[in-house]
Amino acid sequence: MSLNAFITRTEIESEAAGPLAGQRIAVKDNISTEGIRTTCGSEMLEEYVPPYDATVVSKLKDAGATIVGKTNMDEFGMGTTTETSAFGPTKNPVDEDRVPGGSSGGSAAAVKNGEADLALGTDTGGSIRCPAAFTGTVGIKPTYGLVSRYGLVAYANSLEQIGPIAPSVEEAADLLSVIAGPDEHDGTTREAGKDMNYAAAADGDVDGLRIGIPTELLEGSDPVVRKRFEVGLEQLREQGAETVEVELPSVEYAVAAYYVIAMSEASSNLARFDGVRFGTAGGFDGDWNESFAAARSAGFGEEVIRRILLGTFALSEGYHDKYYKQAQEARSWVKQDFDAAFEEADVLATPTMPVLPPKLGESLEDPLQMYLIDANTVPVNLANLPAISVPVGETDSLPVGFQLIGPAFGEKQIIRAGSALE
Ligand code: GLN
Repeated sequence: MSLNAFITRTEIESEAAGPLAGQRIAVKDNISTEGIRTTCGSEMLEEYVPPYDATVVSKLKDAGATIVGKTNMDEFGMGTTTETSAFGPTKNPVDEDRVPGGSSGGSAAAVKNGEADLALGTDTGGSIRCPAAFTGTVGIKPTYGLVSRYGLVAYANSLEQIGPIAPSVEEAADLLSVIAGPDEHDGTTREAGKDMNYAAAADGDVDGLRIGIPTELLEGSDPVVRKRFEVGLEQLREQGAETVEVELPSVEYAVAAYYVIAMSEASSNLARFDGVRFGTAGGFDGDWNESFAAARSAGFGEEVIRRILLGTFALSEGYHDKYYKQAQEARSWVKQDFDAAFEEADVLATPTMPVLPPKLGESLEDPLQMYLIDANTVPVNLANLPAISVPVGETDSLPVGFQLIGPAFGEKQIIRAGSALE
């Protein structure tokens, strides 16, 4: 049975003899591929064919990779299960009755199932780390600015990054080295230093490493998940790491702040999908407003519509200060709390997801419940930090992910610690 990991299959081979020669790579369907449709999991873009490659896609081609397809995802990245896709849900290869996580669920499922050697996902609030955790693969959300977003169809641009999903820490690190680096087409990218060989950091050496445990994020986790997490911590201690408790009091507000900011940015980013500039037309009958409304009602799914409405509301006159501005304040507290925590620890550790992968269909009924399971991943995006999810064994035959968070541009630290866990 197909897992429905791909929206479009491709066989784009490259002649280049680079570091990814011979590797089959799957690319999330919100990353532009020249001449290959890029749907973002939405009916709105069902027939959209980009005229250019995203920078990361050009880099894959230059590195010799074969692009095997565009992967299924929650519509425009809005979700945690890959069930909001207009192309049907992706199944979790570990247990086909369960979700693979999201929104990069197709990418993680393809890697786990061997339909791709490696994959690219995007992470706005956890969308690389969540599916990595739920499928037992490795996912890295890079520091904001390490990887170019040129050619990524924006959902919430102040939060998101493109990153790798792979079977092992070293392979994920290898793919990160290929896609990282400044880009003249994306003014938010930064030079992260001369040595970008991230795989070399996967040496498993955690002797003397100080690992901070944010108590607030542990408390909300399911006891069975927590137990696996503790086993991982013990392994790291046996290899010479020290663990210390740290506090991140502001994370209490992180999910609320994240959703206000993400929805506000989405409401503005998605305005261009009106059936004229982009997207399937609503039929012009002389009234532009009606035509736009018809195109948008027909082309967007329920979750996307909900978020555009809420985001528009949060930004509207009279409510802006109450919602958007407050969310920005909370965002700066989260950043300050992380800064303080990194004075006491080199990396921080939490369970990636506080729960085991839900059953298909289970979480669609209650959007709030779905937002809340992002508790451990969204603070990282609010603070623009790097984080990795590494499998830490199974509970009831379901994988559990261990998240390591680093200071800005501290990718090597989290890769090192992640490889020790492996
Ligand atoms: N689940 C979060 C959301 O729905 C994160 C999604 C993502 O990282 N793209 O916004």
